[in-house]
Parts: sequence; C-alpha cells; structure tokens
Amino acid sequence: MAVKAEFVPNQQATERVTAHVIWMTTGLSCDGDSVAMTAATNPSLEDIVNQVIPGMPKVVVHNPVLAYENGEDFMRAWYDAEEGKLDPFILVLEGSVPNEELSGEGHWAAIGADPVTGQPITTNAWIDRLAPKAAAVVAVGTCATYGGIPAMKNNPTGAMGLADYLGWRWKSKAGIPIVNIPGCPAQPDNTTEVLLYLALMLVDLAPPIELDDALRPAWLFGRTVHEGCNRAAFYEHGDFAREHGDHRCIVQLGCEGPVVKCNVPYRGWVNGIGGCPNVGGICMACTMPGFPDLYLPFMDAARKSKVTTIPARFTYGPIYKFLRNWEIRRHGDKEPKWRKRGRQLETGYQPRHYART
Ligand code: SF4
Ligand code: SF4
Ligand code: SF4
Repeated sequence: MAVKAEFVPNQQATERVTAHVIWMTTGLSCDGDSVAMTAATNPSLEDIVNQVIPGMPKVVVHNPVLAYENGEDFMRAWYDAEEGKLDPFILVLEGSVPNEELSGEGHWAAIGADPVTGQPITTNAWIDRLAPKAAAVVAVGTCATYGGIPAMKNNPTGAMGLADYLGWRWKSKAGIPIVNIPGCPAQPDNTTEVLLYLALMLVDLAPPIELDDALRPAWLFGRTVHEGCNRAAFYEHGDFAREHGDHRCIVQLGCEGPVVKCNVPYRGWVNGIGGCPNVGGICMACTMPGFPDLYLPFMDAARKSKVTTIPARFTYGPIYKFLRNWEIRRHGDKEPKWRKRGRQLETGYQPRHYART
C-alpha cells in the first residue's frame, strides 16, 4: 500500500519564531544583489515578508536598500542583534570584506557611528560583532562569496570573500557553515529561496542545507551553464556563431558556459525569462571563485572550453549534424503512413480548396 507523506507545519515553532535578516550592503559593494532580489518571483521577497508560504516563520528583513527607516532608527536592529535581542537572526553580507589592516588611519567600509567615540563602525567590526550571534551567515553575490570585482589583482583594499575572512570551516552558533550564493548579481530567486530555506531550517521544517566545496547550495549550483543552455545542441554540432545576434552557440564569442556552475539558463532571470546565453549574452563566469581575473578578456573566444570546442567543430560535430539532418529527412516532416495513400487521405476526403494556378 502506498504511503502518502503528509505535510504538517510545526505550528508552534512557526508562531513562536520571528527570524530577522540583518542584511549588510556595506561590504565593497554596488548593492546590485539587493536590487536584483526585488525581482525575485519564486519565492518573491513579498512572499517571504508576508509569510505566505505554509509553515514558514515570520521573517523581518533589515536591508538599507529596502528600508524606510534611516540613520539611528535603521541601525537599531543592528544594535539589538548585537545585544541578543533579535534571536534568531540571519546575517547576510553583500560586497567583499576589505582588509582594514591596509587602510591606514582611515577605513575602507563602515556603517553607523560608535556612540562613545563618534567614529564609524567598520564593516569588519560589524561582522566580528554579529557573526558569532547569528543563527546562519550568508554571503550574497560574488564579491561577498569570493571577493569578486573589488578583489581583482592589484586592488589596494585587500578585498576578500566572507569565507576567507571568517575561515572556510567557520560555523554559526547553530552549526551551519557559511552559505555562499555567488553571481554578479546573485540570481534573484536563488537568494530568496535560500533565505526561505534557512528560515524553515530555523523552525525544524527543512533538513540541514547541503553545500558543495565552495559552500554553494548543492541543488542550485550542481549543473553547468552549458547543461542548461538552449544553444547546447549547436555546440554539439560544432555549429558556432561568428557574430552577436546569431542564434547558434556563442562559445567563440567568449561564452564560458561549459565550465561554469550556474543555474541561470534554466531558472531564467525574472520569472523564468532571460538567462545569459539563452538570450544571446556570453556567460562570463560571474558565479565562479576565479571571477573576474581568470576569465579576462571576456569577449575573446572562450579559452577554457577549447579542449572540447575544437573536436566538436572538426570531428564528431559535423557528423552528428549530417546524421540528424538525414534522420529528419527520413522520418521527420511526414504524416504517418496509415493516414495517407500517396497524396490521398485514407478516409477518401477530398480537399475543398484548390490552389488556383
Ligand atoms: Fe555588485 Fe556584483 Fe559585487 Fe553583487 S557581486 S555587489 S552585483 S559587483
Ligand atoms: Fe554552451 Fe555557451 Fe554555447 Fe550555450 S552558448 S551551448 S553555454 S558554450
Ligand atoms: Fe553569470 Fe554565466 Fe550565470 Fe550569466 S550564465 S549569471 S554570466 S555565471
């Protein structure tokens, strides 16, 4: 007999827990991940803050890009989190962590002012204050996860990803490793889905989050761009575009999709629409730990895929293409034999409209 699993929300926990999200955009950041998140649809940010998903706890998001409050009113949640008044809370970092040991008498990044000294409180100090008290810590965007653009070679700030700052084996007080959601910006639904997942974990409604070696959610980053791309058949045929606007595979225009882990081609960008190579844009590997330095210059033919591009073009690709076209001619574009004898329908029906010649 089939056993039907029944979803029973942990009503008590759901009603008891309010999960706060303290979202720092004060890494070296352009705020692009916060702006992108407002386009999420599955789930949307509104779904999360309005608690519309069955079983989820109440979630309050404190994000300077989205907040109505400003100044000390906005900072109140940060001080409350530090004092243990917001428990549990998820700490989110957007932007890379600067090395304040290199900032001399100034500072690279800060928010809020110390009430005693009047001095700015650096991003590093906030991470040091809040990370040990957070139930989970999330790095959103490639700057926060691996350093990204601010950590390019020869940058003066010593910018780094959150795992390089706290340590790759760091765990929150709830025993959760840092969760990395890379992308420049992070795909909107990836961000909201992970926030929702962690909120459900906090009320024991989701199993421990599964992460890969780069601390990415395994179910979101297990496939390559190429494996989700709607141009992949052209690649297999060795049929490559020479200029932008061509519908064929754009690997020779710089697409790094075959070696990049990202779900954007099959998840789309907004509500399933878009997705870099699907809509004609090369994949420039923005989710990868080596972005951008290892993938420059972006618009040259993708070098990391050369090993497979050349055989696809000059060996099996044209053969596959020839054989598929042959199969289309042989089997495709035809009605089944039982339906017609020659050009006549088996039912004897005569067409009423004849072409006038
Ligand atoms: Fe901006 Fe990209 Fe860095 Fe996010 S990862 S803060 S979008 S530069
Ligand atoms: Fe792969 Fe990029 Fe070509 Fe798509 S466009 S098939 S991701 S190489
Ligand atoms: Fe970034 Fe490539 Fe994914 Fe587009 S497809 S979001 S460029 S990793």
